[in-house]
This record gives sequence, C-alpha cells and structure tokens, in this order.
Amino acid sequence: MRVPFVDLRAQYEGIRQEIERSVLATIERADFILGEELRRFEGDFARFCGVRFAVGVGSGTEALELAMRACGVGAGDEVITAANTYMATVEAIWRVGATPVLVDVSARNHTIDIAEIERFLTARTRAIVPVHLYGQSADMASILEIGRKYDLKVIEDACQAHGARYNGRTVGSLGDIGCFSFYPSKNLGAYGDGGMIVTNNEGYADKIALFRNHGQREKYHHVVKGTNGRLDTLQAAVLRVKLAHLEEWNTARRRHAKYYGELLERIGLRGPHVEGYGEHVYHLYVIEVEDRDRLRAFLGQQGVETGIHYPIPVHRQKAFRDSHPGSREYPVTDALSGRIISLPLYAELDDGQIRYVVEMIARFYGR
Ligand SMILES: *Cc1c(COP(=O)(O)O)cnc(C)c1O
Repeated sequence: MRVPFVDLRAQYEGIRQEIERSVLATIERADFILGEELRRFEGDFARFCGVRFAVGVGSGTEALELAMRACGVGAGDEVITAANTYMATVEAIWRVGATPVLVDVSARNHTIDIAEIERFLTARTRAIVPVHLYGQSADMASILEIGRKYDLKVIEDACQAHGARYNGRTVGSLGDIGCFSFYPSKNLGAYGDGGMIVTNNEGYADKIALFRNHGQREKYHHVVKGTNGRLDTLQAAVLRVKLAHLEEWNTARRRHAKYYGELLERIGLRGPHVEGYGEHVYHLYVIEVEDRDRLRAFLGQQGVETGIHYPIPVHRQKAFRDSHPGSREYPVTDALSGRIISLPLYAELDDGQIRYVVEMIARFYGR
C-alpha cells in the first residue's frame, strides 16, 4: 500500500467541475488583478472568520510582514514569537527591520509557553506573534491578557489553522490581525502561493490594502511606500470554491485524527495532546516517538510518507545564528525536534490507510 504525505490530486478529483467552472469564468472575465473573484473571496473569508475585513495578499509570509507594518512594527522593535515555528514567521519579522525574540514552546501542546513570555519582554517589545501550530490554537486568553497588560500588538500566525477555534471563536479573529497562508498543502490551499490578513480594525485593513497595491488607492497616485503583494484573482477563484468545503474537510481531518489516536493507544503510543479550549483542525498530525529516524526510514520502505515539523529549529538555522550570535537555548523545542514525526493526514485518507500506517508502526516496534 502507498500512503502519500499529502494528496492534492485526490482532493481535486472531488471538486474538479466546480474548480474548472470557476477558473474558466475568471479567464473569460479577464480581471486577473484585483478582480471580481478576489472581492467575493475576501467577503466569504471574512464571514468565515467572523471578522469585518479580509485582504488577500501574495503569501502567508507577506501577510505577516504587511500586518506588522500596518501595526507600526519596525526597526528597533522586538517581536516575540515561538521557537518551534516555520522559518517564515521569523522572516516576516526581519523584513520589517524588527528583531525576533524566540520563546520556547510548551512540552504539552507545542505552542508558545505562556509562562515564559514575560521573561522575554523588554522596553523594546512591540508585538507578540503566537503561532497556531499544527492546526491548534495557542492559549489566546493568556496571550491577549499579556498584550493588554504591556500594550503589545497581537498578530496571529494562523497559517496552519484555517477554521480552528478557540473558545468558539475562529482563530485569526482574536488578536489585532490574523494572518493566513494558502500554500497548496495547507488546510485551505491555492494552486500556487497566496495569503490573507483578517481584522476588525478598519485602519489596518485599509493600510494593508494600500501596501499590497503599490501604495495607491487611485491609479498612479502613490500615497504610501507600497509593494506588489496582491492575491491573484485566479487563485481566489480556486480558493472560493474550496472554502465552501473547508468545514467538511476539517471535520474529516478530526475524524481521522480520532481514529489514529485510538489505534496508536492500542500499541502503547499517544496521539497529540489536545487542549480543552479549542477545536484542532489537524493541519499536521504530530506524535512523539523513540528512534524516530529509523522509524521514518522503515515507514518509507513500507510506502508510508512522513514529515518532520521541524527537523532543525529556527535558532539552529545558519541564517538565524549569523544574525543573532549567542542566541539562547530552547530545551523543549530542541528535544521535540529529535522526537516528532508527522503522519499522513488529510480529508481524502481512508480508514484502511490509517490502519496500515499504524500496523507498520507496530511492526517497527515489534508490538
Ligand atoms: C506556511 C506557513 C507560513 C508561510 O506561509 P507562505 O504562504 O508559505 O508564505 C508562515 N507561518 C507558518 C506557521 C506556516 O506554516
């Protein structure tokens, strides 16, 4: 049996007609830049998140960068984020000229360790960027509380958590600005790059709409220093079709995660810890194991593709070391990077494949 890590082809088979109709209609309309489908998708996504404004941008990385610029984060500022994240979170902080300050993650759910944040605050701290890692919300009540107490902006990196909830509210809608990626393999993925910011703050939404379009509201009248950072109309045409399926896909992901958890328990392993305050959307299904690298190799031989998120933590990357010499140690993140493995998980997976993955894990450990 073969169990690929992601299967975008299988997803396409289920929505082929809708996608083709939507894409072709956009090509016929030929409004490729800031067109009709983008406007509609922004409206639909804002409603989905329960916010007033959504602005489509070129990628998740760009969403984070423009969000920080809109909040006035720049040179000389420090921005707190989680040590266990994808490099893009840190890249966006660098891009606005600010300094990333990494905080270790909780050993329990792998999101930013709330108890640690206050130790890292200085007079220069301007913002916190919590990362809703793997599809699970960070502890937003505590983060918003710290934000209020120290007058910090809270910019959510929701790039892995489309539709995840925290105490009933959709992530991305809780802080000052929420940022999403539509990288093809995300829970809501484009057929190329794409991103979105969501907010209830009209001023921020306006600024980001200006930044992404060369700083102009009116053609050739450039009122602020902008860039070319728009979400393509064609990508929006794909994403709007897919958004209508997202709840159903996330529900399937949760069902598969539950099944994995039951089967893993029978062989003495544990599924991911899930916090009680939220609804996990399982962008990634990450478990901790002994002898991880040999297990991965064995699963690969048996046709099961797996991933590691992430094998080399941010603070151990050359790019980070070079610009932040003498950076701190992050024991939890370091320990996790040697133990975590991401198993295949997506809506189109079937129970037989899940059983096969767990059977192969059991065979490896001789259970
Ligand atoms: C994917 C991702 C990003 C970046 O998104 P892109 O669209 O690839 O630029 C940022 N942060 C996290 C946590 C991500 O998973």
